[in-house]
Amino acid sequence: MHSKYCHLRCPQCEISGNMVLDLKPTRIGKAFCSNCGYDLPLHDGISDFAPHVPLMDPKLRPIQKLNQSPVFSAFYESAVWRAFLTRLGSGISMKDELERILSLAGNGAIETVADLACGTGHYARAFSGKFPDAVIYGLDISLSMLARGQKLARRSNLNSILFLRGDIYRLPFEDSSIDRVNCCGALHLFSNVFPIWREIFRILRPGGVFTGWSLYLKPGLEERIQHRMMEKKLASFFQPGQLGDELKQAGLTHFHCERERLWLIFSATKTKDGLL
Ligand SMILES: [Zn+2]
Repeated sequence: MHSKYCHLRCPQCEISGNMVLDLKPTRIGKAFCSNCGYDLPLHDGISDFAPHVPLMDPKLRPIQKLNQSPVFSAFYESAVWRAFLTRLGSGISMKDELERILSLAGNGAIETVADLACGTGHYARAFSGKFPDAVIYGLDISLSMLARGQKLARRSNLNSILFLRGDIYRLPFEDSSIDRVNCCGALHLFSNVFPIWREIFRILRPGGVFTGWSLYLKPGLEERIQHRMMEKKLASFFQPGQLGDELKQAGLTHFHCERERLWLIFSATKTKDGLL
C-alpha cells in the first residue's frame, strides 16, 4: 500500500483509501482494491480507473478519436500542433499560457494535484516542477496520450506524476482530497459540463483551487456558428459571466478570468467550509 496514493477511489466499490499499487520503477505492475478485491485492468503500466468506458468509445468525436492515436500523441505538444494552435487562438505562447495557469494556481502547502484530460502531460509536468513534493495525478481517457505522457515525464525525471486512465464524469478520487485541479484545453470537447464542475467541487479540498482554460463564445457571427456547433454537440464555448455563474452554482467561487482572443484562462476556489 502506498499511502501517498490514498486519495484514489476504487472504480468498482467506490471506496477510497484501499487501492494497492505495485509500483515498478517506470510503470505500475499491479493495482487492486483491498476492500472489494477488484483487479484494475492495466495497459502498459497504466492503470485503468475507467473500465466502464470502452478503450475505443464509438461515441467519441473525431478529435477525441484522433487523441487515441500514438502518432498524433507523438507530435501533440509540438510546434505543428498544440503550440501552433495556442499562438493562433490566444496570441500568446504555450510558455506564457502555462505561466498564467501556474500563477492562478497560487502557492501554499500543496500535497495533491489532479490534471484532468492531461493529454501528454504538458501541465502535469509543470505542476510537478512547481510543487516537487506533491503527488500529481495525470488523468486522461486516451491510453496513447497517457503512454506518451509517462514517457515524457520519465525523460524529465519527474517521478511524482502518476498517469491514470480515468473518466472526467466519475473522477477516481476521494471527496475533498485534492489541493489543485487543473483542466486545460479540453473542456470545449464536452457538451455537458455541469456534472464536471460538480465532480471537481467534490474532489477539491476546502480552500483548493481549480484552474483551466477553455474557448470563448465570441459575440457576433462567430457566436451563431458556435451556437450551431453546441446544438449539434460538437463543442462547448463559454462567456466569462456564464462560466463564473455555472461554477458558482457548482460551489466554486472567487472566479477569476482573463481572456486572450479565444482563450479564457480562469480559476475558481472551493471555499474553506466547502459548502454551497
Ligand atoms: Zn473496491
